[in-house]
Amino acid sequence: MQEKLKLIPAIDRLLGEMYKDPAVAEWPRDLVVTALREAAAQARQRLRAGEDCDISVSALIAAARAWLRQASGRSLRKVVNATGVVLHTNLGRAPLSARAAAAVREVMEGYCTLEYDLATGQRGTRYAHVVGRICALTGAEDALVVNNNAAAVLLVLSALAKGREVIVSRGQLVEIGGSFRIPEVMQQGGAILVEVGTTNKTHLADFANAITANTAAVLKVHTSNYRIVGFTAQPDTAELVKLAHSRGIPVIEDLGSGTLVPLAAGGWSEPTVRESIAAGVDIVTFSGDKLLGAGQAGIIAGRRRYIEIMKKHPLLRALRMDKLSLAALEGTLIDYTVGDPLRDVPVQRMLRLTQDELAQKAAALKERLTPLQAYGWRVDVTEISAQAGGGALPAVDLPGWGVAVRPQGISAVALERQLRQWCVPIIARIQDDQVVFDVRCLTDEDAGLICQACLELAKGAGQ
Ligand SMILES: *Cc1c(COP(=O)(O)O)cnc(C)c1O
Repeated sequence: MQEKLKLIPAIDRLLGEMYKDPAVAEWPRDLVVTALREAAAQARQRLRAGEDCDISVSALIAAARAWLRQASGRSLRKVVNATGVVLHTNLGRAPLSARAAAAVREVMEGYCTLEYDLATGQRGTRYAHVVGRICALTGAEDALVVNNNAAAVLLVLSALAKGREVIVSRGQLVEIGGSFRIPEVMQQGGAILVEVGTTNKTHLADFANAITANTAAVLKVHTSNYRIVGFTAQPDTAELVKLAHSRGIPVIEDLGSGTLVPLAAGGWSEPTVRESIAAGVDIVTFSGDKLLGAGQAGIIAGRRRYIEIMKKHPLLRALRMDKLSLAALEGTLIDYTVGDPLRDVPVQRMLRLTQDELAQKAAALKERLTPLQAYGWRVDVTEISAQAGGGALPAVDLPGWGVAVRPQGISAVALERQLRQWCVPIIARIQDDQVVFDVRCLTDEDAGLICQACLELAKGAGQ
């Protein structure tokens, strides 16, 4: 082994060989050296582990080239979402509308009016680009935007309730993914949590009895990822507002996904932001990249006197939105104002596809996949269901359609893995030893990618 270790070519020699290919000159020299060192180190490691390893000049150069390719490859990449989950947090939540994507592109490629007032030639505010539309779409007096809804809740509590009590129903002490938990956010914001009621039932009187001179607010939280069903009760929002206002305190509502247009399925509906504002809620917070369908953002809408306090809070600077997300948000809000959101905003369109439309989409994908049958693969249209995702319509299974593929020569598990590692990764589900492609979130281009990948894998498996 010692002998073989000594036979690994010197880096200088490898470098000389590598630069015989003029294309290598496009890489910085330091990076090429690093790549060769990595290749040599790996060979050394394998030899030490007693493994067989090709240590020829050409093998080491090939390994260095692979390392360089990897170094220039992106990790954050497009994937095909064949899971049927429209607001898949791990897959980046909402795809942008054409208008929002164009707005992002324009702003990112040059300079923009982020904090510049064209009328006066003076400094402007980044919030001015979206506040008017948020107010028009929700009925709120004023609004503010931050990085995400978690930041919105933190800012609201920090600005309005630091060192004071906030009353929450025990049925709404939510934990959502990524460790956002109401009791902990409350603590971060410096507020004192006062739990009232029980897990299943909280009455107006529970809130009334808990209000003290040190109460800063009543907080309602959308139960985004669970339902309490059966023997249950929560006071009506308007009643709660009436009580809170009679005692001189505001009502805050964390709506989570918070839709701007009504959305219902499976006997449940998502609350609209306008309904909460109309019921008198003083401050509503919701996400930009859930049902709204924009990029990451946290929207705070409500009464001006509370928004004014938040505008002056030092946390706002730490939580502020960047120009790209802001452009995506403004573009999407325009879809809701002058466009048809049910047609133009992808998440709204996908969530509303009818059973007929989905069945047709599945039949079309099946048709395109029929060449797989020549390799002994089975291809069937199948009825499936999926969640809306993103804290929208929790516990509702949205019925849909997909195509189930039963491969030949490789297992469904292997097929799913290879699709996931394809040049454009395809994320699908496994069900009953088949790989299932839910068609709800697929574009025409996505369907083409699925066909291409499956066909190549079928050819490979058949050999
Ligand atoms: C999703 C959600 C949040 C967090 O929103 P992000 O925009 O992901 O930060 C907070 N509260 C509720 C109720 C939610 O559903």
